[in-house]
Amino acid sequence: MYRYFSLNAALRQRFGERVQKIPLDAGFDCPNRDGTLSREGCIFCNPSGSGSGMLRQGSDLRAQWAHWAGQQAKRYKAHLFIGYLQSYTNTYGPLERIADTLSQLENLPGLAALSIGTRPDCLDSAKLELIASQKEKLDLDEIFLELGLQTAHDDTLRHINRGHGVADFERAARQASDLGLNVVAHVIAGLPSPAGREGQKELLETVEFVNALPVRGIKFHNLYVCKGTRLAKLWKDGGYAPLTRDEYCQWLGEALMLLSPATVVHRLNGDPAQGELLTPDWAGEKREVHNALRSHLEQHDIWQGKRNGAPDGPPPHFSPDFRE
Ligand code: SF4
Repeated sequence: MYRYFSLNAALRQRFGERVQKIPLDAGFDCPNRDGTLSREGCIFCNPSGSGSGMLRQGSDLRAQWAHWAGQQAKRYKAHLFIGYLQSYTNTYGPLERIADTLSQLENLPGLAALSIGTRPDCLDSAKLELIASQKEKLDLDEIFLELGLQTAHDDTLRHINRGHGVADFERAARQASDLGLNVVAHVIAGLPSPAGREGQKELLETVEFVNALPVRGIKFHNLYVCKGTRLAKLWKDGGYAPLTRDEYCQWLGEALMLLSPATVVHRLNGDPAQGELLTPDWAGEKREVHNALRSHLEQHDIWQGKRNGAPDGPPPHFSPDFRE
């Protein structure tokens, strides 16, 4: 039984075959790290872990594409790819810089869709229109805009030095959706907050906030502590305790039941880069976490939307084989 509407299912239905994501490092920075907003970054930001660093090592976007697409074509027999501008804030800087980056994606073999990761406060009308125009220019089936929300609570966003508020997310999500972009919200469970740590209640409020917006996808992350972050110091000083795996499974189950069944789940959990994880250990065991999440959903007969429009069982569109 398919208990949630996965990205894999959505892509299969759309493209009729496997589609792989290709991470791309275009060399953008972040206003929350370069001194524009702050030099400290978000409390969990690992300055060395957020980017692949491939551009700095001399691989331009075409070379990165050739490297990853070649590897994925061999491993998964994939022909179609999503170009994922992943590292840091990919709409930060002048319009011309962003236009130049996007122009480098022209005629990449197998490029079927684009995904752009960014902060909601680094988007204005001109940037959004430029991004939306790439659908025709690059002949894409879809453009995903991955926006960091993290939580729908401004006091927590201030506490973690996020540098933008909830209203920035709402404005950017609405504008992007009006232009036909497929908005994906990033959400984190267990953020440090003025009260110590956000609980399940705050996660569910964040899901309700996302449900009320024209957001078509969501990425869930469990907060883990990485080396070199301010969160690491807080944890070492006894000021932060990450969630246990059981807690995360339980919270995520509740969040999925509340999530609209139409929303595509791009991720169920975070995945630390090699060597960056301090704690909790379980966060580094991706497969085991997935298995634990799946068996939690089975054991408790949980499915996405059970408490939001789909009370009678998982809708048929959760299956990758579903056809309208
Ligand atoms: S927005 Fe991203 S890159 Fe910028 S400080 Fe926060 S986590 Fe780091």
